[in-house]
Amino acid sequence: MISKFIGQYFVKNKSSKEYVVTVSRNWLEFWSKYSTRTPLKCSIKGCSYESEIGGHVKVKTKNNKDYDYIIPLCKKCNSNTHLYSCYYETKKNSCVIRFNE
Ligand SMILES: [Zn+2]
Repeated sequence: MISKFIGQYFVKNKSSKEYVVTVSRNWLEFWSKYSTRTPLKCSIKGCSYESEIGGHVKVKTKNNKDYDYIIPLCKKCNSNTHLYSCYYETKKNSCVIRFNE
């Protein structure tokens, strides 16, 4: 099931070991298809790099259920070790795509 959410969120990178869904895809294209947006800038607040990757992230939610969410990230944020240990805020009006199979 695929769900789309729009807003400002706190996200944390997932390492591949934490992925709920393990199929391989072009995740940026996947994001583009379900968000119906063109990926432009990285989703992390304050980052002005172009997005290049459909990043797998956790989104801070009340129930804290473990889902995979996809957001466009630049390569720098996608490999930023701080983003694997802390939650970072996204830009306003960000689109996150949640899925579970
Ligand atoms: Zn970035």
